Amino acid sequence: MLFLMLLLLLPAESRSQTDPAQCRYALGMQDGSIADDDLTASSQWYESTGPKYARLGRDEADGAWCPAGPLHPSDEQFLQVDLRSLCFVTLVGTQGRSGGGAGKEFVRIYRLDYSRDGDRWISWKSRTGQKVIQGNSNVYDVVLKDLRPPVIARYLRIIPVTELTSTVCMRMELYGCSWHDGLLSYSAPEGQIMAVPGYPIAYLNDSTYDGFLERRLQFGGLGQLTDGLLGMDDFLQTHQTRTWQGYDYVGWRNDSLGPGYVEMDFLFDKQRNFSSMKVHCNNMFSRGVKIFKKVSCLFKPRLISDWEPEPVGITTVLDDKNPSARFVTVPLGNRVGKELRCQFSFADTWMMFSEISFQSNMEVIKPRVIPVHTRLPSPLSTADPEPELSTMLQSQETTPPFIVSWPVDRPDDGSTSVLIGCLVTIILLLLVIIVLILWCQYVRKVLEKAPCRILDEEVMGQHSSCSDTMVVHSSHSNPTYETVFLLDPEYQEPVLLLHKLPELSQSAEDSVLILSNPAYDLFIPTSFPLIGWHVMKNKPISTNVCSGDYAEPDLTQCTPHQGFQSSVPHYAETDIVSLQGVTGSNMYAVPALTVDSLTRKGISVGEFPRQRLHFREKLGEGQFGEVHLCEAEGLQEFLGGVVPLSDPDGRPVLVAVKKLRADASKNARNDFLKEIKIMSRLNHPNIVRLLGVCVCTDPLCMITEYMENGDLNQFLSQRESESTLTHANNIPSVSLPNLLHMSAQISSGMRYLASLNFVHRDLATRNCLVDHQLTIKIADFGMSRNLYSGDYYRIQGRAVLPIRWMAWESILLGKFTTASDVWAFGVTLWEIFTLCKEQPYSLLSDEQVIENTGEFFRNQGRQIFLSHPSLCPPTLFELMLRCWSRDTKDRPSFERVHRHLQEHVA
Ligand code: ADP
Repeated sequence: MLFLMLLLLLPAESRSQTDPAQCRYALGMQDGSIADDDLTASSQWYESTGPKYARLGRDEADGAWCPAGPLHPSDEQFLQVDLRSLCFVTLVGTQGRSGGGAGKEFVRIYRLDYSRDGDRWISWKSRTGQKVIQGNSNVYDVVLKDLRPPVIARYLRIIPVTELTSTVCMRMELYGCSWHDGLLSYSAPEGQIMAVPGYPIAYLNDSTYDGFLERRLQFGGLGQLTDGLLGMDDFLQTHQTRTWQGYDYVGWRNDSLGPGYVEMDFLFDKQRNFSSMKVHCNNMFSRGVKIFKKVSCLFKPRLISDWEPEPVGITTVLDDKNPSARFVTVPLGNRVGKELRCQFSFADTWMMFSEISFQSNMEVIKPRVIPVHTRLPSPLSTADPEPELSTMLQSQETTPPFIVSWPVDRPDDGSTSVLIGCLVTIILLLLVIIVLILWCQYVRKVLEKAPCRILDEEVMGQHSSCSDTMVVHSSHSNPTYETVFLLDPEYQEPVLLLHKLPELSQSAEDSVLILSNPAYDLFIPTSFPLIGWHVMKNKPISTNVCSGDYAEPDLTQCTPHQGFQSSVPHYAETDIVSLQGVTGSNMYAVPALTVDSLTRKGISVGEFPRQRLHFREKLGEGQFGEVHLCEAEGLQEFLGGVVPLSDPDGRPVLVAVKKLRADASKNARNDFLKEIKIMSRLNHPNIVRLLGVCVCTDPLCMITEYMENGDLNQFLSQRESESTLTHANNIPSVSLPNLLHMSAQISSGMRYLASLNFVHRDLATRNCLVDHQLTIKIADFGMSRNLYSGDYYRIQGRAVLPIRWMAWESILLGKFTTASDVWAFGVTLWEIFTLCKEQPYSLLSDEQVIENTGEFFRNQGRQIFLSHPSLCPPTLFELMLRCWSRDTKDRPSFERVHRHLQEHVA
């Protein structure tokens, strides 16, 4: 009996208050409990295609909501639903226009915006940062789309998206349940990364948080702590697909937060009587993780009142025996509050939470009563609350047989029979789960025994738990399951993935190189252009590997090179990492033709008389030697007045003179000359202009225009964001329009380089210069120089590479293209909008950055993106994310980037 009681209690403790697998009730479009008045739209074509006709499964008036006029790709039209109270929304169902069979319109893709207060709108994003949701492909099928993460909102807007101008119409339903917690937002210190040698890295950030981040504090939003997903006992594991290790938890390290506790504020929709708070914590003490030692909460009855002085809290009993993750219930003594502030004290090195929920007196709140609702089945297996299924189910035009009726806001009348009924259902469900788990394990074992190749194809063809789309067809009578995509982590060996990637696809016979970088062992077929990585086993590098696909063979591998200055650093040390095993020319797989065409013709600027350069001061030190500020006497005449300089009246003009150091090697000298040749051919207002050279005698010099404000990195890092404070205190500052203008200028320079098919390969703020009028010019063609030089003096088995700016394919495949420049441009934008106060991925070591590169390559949603800089407008951050698309074809062109930025500037 006791066992039975325990069993009955188990589900309650292993499930969150709002369980996304259960919270799938129709919220009232179809059954009309969402009133016509609560449906609005940005526009409607006719009265008969107004928002009130957007009800899924119904065919009234002209049969759907259609926004006015044909929809253009740049249009933003929306259908808005007011749910009257906060709801936890887990699914969206869409359907085209029926119009008694005459309708032809539907919405192929859409976006979703949501708001909790009707004021601040947030764009929904999938866990991998995708905003668009696949909609319908015909007018009659209902397509149900799981929202991962779910949305907690009162208002939702569906925004049809179209790539071509077309007429769109839609019907829809929202599915979910009431958000009983009533929590509007929580704030917490930013979650951290656990990197312990010998263990996989755990990323314990709150990745779906929809608020703001400032000085490492997240505030004004909700995220993973309220997504209904409970973490597992081992925090590295997760049920979620397309995520990373540590995904389920938000975690903090004790010594990183001064006071020994994590302080969190919780803001609610209304004043409530709180009976308890439940915190789901990890307790893997063998890894230094424990539940909190004590918690103390203060209450604020109203938003404008002070915190009441008496706290409520508990001291917990710590557990060194049982490593299970668990809910810790904190009684809150029925205190009244609109806002709570709780301090959770560390009991060990780490504290990790996966969910926090509040139980409050429901008398205070009166949500809209939704009489009876249909609930969609949870996605196949309840053991995995978020399996990703593509499911073909039967017609939705009539009531589908799998939908069960269930009241959302069930009154708790204490009826024993209801309780027993629920418990029995839970037991039955548990049994079903156990059977399913056993069955899955059996199937997995069978699959494991299958040959690798078949396995691969089988997985592609059979794993149905990978898509979050459910299509309800009008013609089938039984639910059948369709598979779409591979995502079982067991089958994600890079070599297998490579077979699937079009641009990387290889024949099965290709042998495999194992990269010798200790940071990650990656299996790559030998015909990949990974020239120069050390071969650890299998076979030595073959001639075909040495010659690769590129114009220049890797001579370092084929004929060992002697006598160069391997110690010469190329970049600011902190920005660059040495990749052992990466060698010279393989890293420079850039169109040699362009380079040729830029260098073939020789230097196209004149020899400036050296004696007319008068040294003023040292500006800096580069890889070739010092950079001096000089007066260039008579430069205006020397240039024939073609280049307007700031001092046109014949007086000495200030210039920057880069000198090749006296002890430079022959190769360095050649590189220097080649950089001169390239620069002399470039002519654009946002590229540093070469004005003259001194190459007839040593030391070789290049004379460029002087940029008074030095490089952009140090310029921005010495400034703050413009505000009344900076004005009042005379603090050097930059405004948002300044930053946008700078970004647009860099994109303009890059657009020019791209038009020449020229790849820069080292775009970063440190390589952009700023003049007195805030004109930005791209400089430093240092890396590009090497592609055609065949000169690898600085490498000798070690390459110095700016990995934090590099696209994954540049690091893994040595592939540098305009698309990888676009990636670096995204990072440069990020630097600009963080005012260069932080290095990209500052929390990651170089090895972790490279590991992350592997994640970009695998693209299973575990890659870490640079965070949204607080100064950066959301659309610009979206642009950055697009620059970091895995597939080069998904990255925007510089043309597009420039257009986008120009719009911002305008
Ligand atoms: P390298 O590319 O060889 O490493 P740089 O061209 O970056 O060297 O020059 C080193 C430093 O000299 C820069 O960081 C910058 O501060 C300064 N500098 C270089 N060129 C100019 C210039 N045209 N105007 C003003 N400062 C310059």
